[in-house]
Amino acid sequence: MAPGADSKTTATGRSVLITGGNRGIGLAIAKVFVANGDKVAITYRSGDVPEGMLGVRADVTSEEQIDAAFTQVEAEHGPVEVLVANAGITRDVLLLRMSESDFTDVIDTNLTGAFRVVKRASRGMIRLRRGRVILISSVTGLYGAPGQINYSASKAGLVGIARSLTRELGSRGITANVVAPGFIDTDMTAELPEETRKSYLATIPAGRFASPDEVAGVVSWLAGDAAGYISRCGHPGRRRPRHGP
Ligand code: NDP
Repeated sequence: MAPGADSKTTATGRSVLITGGNRGIGLAIAKVFVANGDKVAITYRSGDVPEGMLGVRADVTSEEQIDAAFTQVEAEHGPVEVLVANAGITRDVLLLRMSESDFTDVIDTNLTGAFRVVKRASRGMIRLRRGRVILISSVTGLYGAPGQINYSASKAGLVGIARSLTRELGSRGITANVVAPGFIDTDMTAELPEETRKSYLATIPAGRFASPDEVAGVVSWLAGDAAGYISRCGHPGRRRPRHGP
């Protein structure tokens, strides 16, 4: 059985797009949707496209490339019904040594990149009057971490996107959710010094790092029928003015 294949949703055959789906967490997520019988497209910049998926080359820092990728996916699979904004980078360095480009490059990929794909996907979702948006954040976005002012700011910002998206498009059958994983064994974390890995491990109640498949199961569930009434927002039921602080 493919990894995560046991976390089936009831809906199948949907057009699903995952950014950065060629490796790591994104690839594990893509495999779960393939196993569920969905039409899966991934954006990638490097490497090969895994079997059973449509690979579209796109860098999330380019609005033009994102637009072209969506146009190709729409032509081959139909409008995107499930969007997983997963592409992300780190550039860890302590504040006093963090350059402005260390900060803005991470924001441009992790936060503005998510904005670009969410905006492009919303067009088709509004027309369909349904859609699932899942943003891959991080526990660091909620709690912070030394050396990650850029990364944690970008990941915290995704919560704001999801909350406002819920307020703006919730009435069109579109949900927006954020998954904030802890430490997952991928290329991103493999490059951390052993010392750092050990200090993270000491704070994890489960006493181990998670696998990408364990994140994929949650994402698949959020995109499934059982989660149709779950959407990230602020105070439940409180109506906010259209614009405001
Ligand atoms: P990896 O480094 O293994 O993979 C990152 C993915 O993002 C790759 O597919 C990469 O594509 C893609 N990517 C990076 N920059 C861009 C860009 N500008 N345009 C398009 N694609 C891009 O990371 P993970 O799988 O570990 O992380 C996936 C997501 O999960 C990230 O958002 C990360 O922040 C988040 N996360 C990871 C955790 C962890 O412990 N690993 C914990 C919490 C959150 P390419 O191969 O072309 O470089």
